[in-house]
Amino acid sequence: MENELKILEEEFLKDCQQACGAKDAEGLRVKYLGRKAQINQFFSKIPTLEPTQRGAYGRELNILKQKMSAIIEKKLNERQNLEESLDLTYPGIKPQRGSRHVLTTVTETICDIFQKQGFIVAQGGEIEDEWHNFTALNFPTDHPSRDAFDTFYLNLDQDKKNGRYLLRCHTSPSQIRVMCQNKPPMAVISPGRVYRPDEVDATHSFMFHQVEGFAISENINFAHLKGVLLDFAKGFFAKDARLRFRPHFFPFTEPSAEVDVSCFMCNGKKKETKCSVCKDKGWIEVLGCGMIHPNVLDTCNIDSQKYQGFAFGLGVERMAMLKYGITDIRLFYENDLRFLEQFNQL
Ligand SMILES: [Zn+2]
Repeated sequence: MENELKILEEEFLKDCQQACGAKDAEGLRVKYLGRKAQINQFFSKIPTLEPTQRGAYGRELNILKQKMSAIIEKKLNERQNLEESLDLTYPGIKPQRGSRHVLTTVTETICDIFQKQGFIVAQGGEIEDEWHNFTALNFPTDHPSRDAFDTFYLNLDQDKKNGRYLLRCHTSPSQIRVMCQNKPPMAVISPGRVYRPDEVDATHSFMFHQVEGFAISENINFAHLKGVLLDFAKGFFAKDARLRFRPHFFPFTEPSAEVDVSCFMCNGKKKETKCSVCKDKGWIEVLGCGMIHPNVLDTCNIDSQKYQGFAFGLGVERMAMLKYGITDIRLFYENDLRFLEQFNQL
């Protein structure tokens, strides 16, 4: 009799090993614990046994039944849990998607407008030397921008020909490199990061982004510059944008001008409340520009008697702040998703 219980148990364990899936577990339950299960026959045999054997046999049977019951129960639960975790009809968890930084988007928007006009994009290195950053751009040797307080000089052995190494303070050196290596006509824009040791506040940062551009050809004049910039202003700010040029001074352009765009918020029309963008001036300062100084052309081996060119430069952060009403430049760099996610759909 002990033997028949052992056989039953072995058969049960073998079946268990092969069982997989909820159906199999349920089959095990019917086969070993159901109404027609063999173990019931063993139970019904108890009254026919010798009275001294009945107790021990009954206990053995109960132990086996409990063991089988526990194993089957566990299998049924396992299946159920697994199937719940695999429920294909369960709504998915949306993964958090990254997106481009607002400064990247604005840089691309600016470049797109100029590329449609025929400009090509040339990017340069952020580490430059004095010759490309200052000298070739007609900065006199005693110009204050060359001062160590206004430029990040690098602690490297200086180049014998081109002077000390530094973090570029504008993207113009990329343009100098293009001018030195190519022959006119050419029209190039250079986007990128630039560095100046400015105290960080709501409108200043030691690092920011620029897009600078130039075009060189025969018979290029100031009217071409105005046309290119007006097209940019209409594309970036508003279709009815107007420009105002104010005389200015830059070492690398002559004549030079600062450019204001008509306020895209109020268009110069005074309203009851003060315009938050232009402070009721009607104009917003947006960029600097001018005709490339003949010294710059000659330095780059471009004949200034034959060729002329214009150049312009603008700050990407300033453009983004104006366009989206952002009042603090530091927001761009703090990686606060609450700020950045507002621009995901741009
Ligand atoms: Zn305004």
